Amino acid sequence: MIIVLLGPPGAGKGTQASKISETLSIPHIATGDIFREAVKKGTELGRKAKEYMERGELVPDEIVNGIVKERISEPDCSNGFILDGYPRTLNQAKALDEMLAEMNRKIDIVLNISVSEDNVVKRLSNRRVCKRCGAIYHLITNPPKREGMCDKCGGELYQREDDREEVIRNRLSVYRKQTEPIIKYYEEKALLIDIDGNREIEEVWDQIKRAIEGRR
Ligand code: ADP
Ligand code: ADP
Ligand code: ZN
Repeated sequence: MIIVLLGPPGAGKGTQASKISETLSIPHIATGDIFREAVKKGTELGRKAKEYMERGELVPDEIVNGIVKERISEPDCSNGFILDGYPRTLNQAKALDEMLAEMNRKIDIVLNISVSEDNVVKRLSNRRVCKRCGAIYHLITNPPKREGMCDKCGGELYQREDDREEVIRNRLSVYRKQTEPIIKYYEEKALLIDIDGNREIEEVWDQIKRAIEGRR
């Protein structure tokens, strides 16, 4: 199955994507994670992406499209995959359709997770991420068992540079201008299913499970 997760920053895409990945045994591809990894390693890609990410702007389409094309061509993607944080512009959505057409494949379902702006700010300012395995926590709604330490791997938790209030505001406005228009694009292709992301993590997961079951 090929699943696309849409939604503003903080909607819970990463949290739900790892549940889907575990349940369906298909890889979770998060372009944000790929870029953060590249920045950490100081690769050429990381150098290109860094300044955009710090400002909460989008990395240019040509760069992102190339990365995704390479990633989804890998053998572990042959049974399907989950895209989290891609596509984020109309250009990316069209590029994805072209890549998939070349591979004789297509998107099965697009889950649009909506969440109020208030919730976005509350979620992102309390988000903590594992340095080692990328697991996502929240200081209040989804805290780790031991403060500052990942339940899954014992890694150290950190706060993302771009999860500061000023950058959060900019990311939200970038989302509204550049990403929101693709909702209509997928609606017209009859691929879109709306998910209420304001509920608790397990309730959101229930909605997603039902939506996926309905498409299989
Ligand atoms: P969130 O899910 O919290 O919005 P991500 O981890 O998906 O954040 O993305 C972090 C940053 O990485 C974005 O603000 C942007 O700079 C860059 N990025 C990630 N995915 C894309 C994409 N598809 N197109 C352009 N930039 C991207
Ligand atoms: P995204 O990938 O869309 O940016 P994340 O999955 O990283 O979102 O979630 C953002 C923050 O909100 C994290 O701290 C996460 O633990 C928390 N979170 C995710 N889903 C929910 C939810 N349904 N209710 C409350 N907090 C949530
Ligand atoms: Zn971990």
